[in-house]
Amino acid sequence: MTHQGLFSLANRVALVTGANTGLGQGIAIALAQAGADIVAVGRSNAAQTEDVVRSLGRKFYGVKADLERSTEAAAIVANAIELAGHVDILINNAGVIRRNDALTFTEEEWDSALNVNLKTPFFLAQACAQAMVRQSRPGKIINIASMLSFQGGIRTASYTASKSGLAGLTRLLANEWAAHRINVNAIAPGYFETNNTSALRADEGRNRDILARIPAGRWGLPADLAGAAIFLASDASDYVHGTILPVDGGWLAR
Ligand code: NAP
Repeated sequence: MTHQGLFSLANRVALVTGANTGLGQGIAIALAQAGADIVAVGRSNAAQTEDVVRSLGRKFYGVKADLERSTEAAAIVANAIELAGHVDILINNAGVIRRNDALTFTEEEWDSALNVNLKTPFFLAQACAQAMVRQSRPGKIINIASMLSFQGGIRTASYTASKSGLAGLTRLLANEWAAHRINVNAIAPGYFETNNTSALRADEGRNRDILARIPAGRWGLPADLAGAAIFLASDASDYVHGTILPVDGGWLAR
């Protein structure tokens, strides 16, 4: 196989959650550029992503779902398979952050992040893996982790718990499913310019402190995840299991 072939996603189908905006949109476009068809799962219209994916000559399917409700996971994957025939790649990207002091953190703030960021990703991964095993197809599952899979953070109790849990879950699933030719890995983005970080970037002091700590000297852009996402979704990573790959401009090295 040529080096280019190693990274080709031709004839693959990628299910991407939260592909309408931010990192999910960047990843969906990168996978389409590498040849994959896209099933975008989320609660908002992903028309902008659809336009780009179609302009690249790839197929695009939309599935509406509120990912706070993990009980819908099996139906989402069944729907995706009905539309696209199979799912080869799952990108568990959709996520929410709730900011509050731990002293006053509410149960709603806890449950919403744990459900969207950890519980539903598990049941989506389970439904995809069941289909991969049933169809005797190999697969790639990529969870979008965080710096708070490694660090504690502050005022982000449920987010930190969910992203730290997602890192552990990535390793657990890799152990159980490697023998089925399913690679489970995670990408841990550093600080990226998306809706998720608009409050941080708007706070002059926090923005300055964060930038000063990033060796690359700038916030990440969604396109900065393209290489890691294509690598972990393609044959190039066939012997890579259970890794949490930071794409952080050097943040963790500091
Ligand atoms: P974003 O722009 O806020 O996008 C979040 C995505 O998740 C949106 O598509 C959003 O849909 C979707 N989502 C949230 N709750 C949902 C629900 N209940 N049902 C369906 N979809 C839901 O943030 P982002 O930065 O791109 O975040 C993407 C992932 O990267 C998240 O898991 C986040 O934790 C992770 N991450 C981000 C950074 C960063 O610096 N930006 C760093 C590390 C990790 P709507 O548009 O409908 O709300």
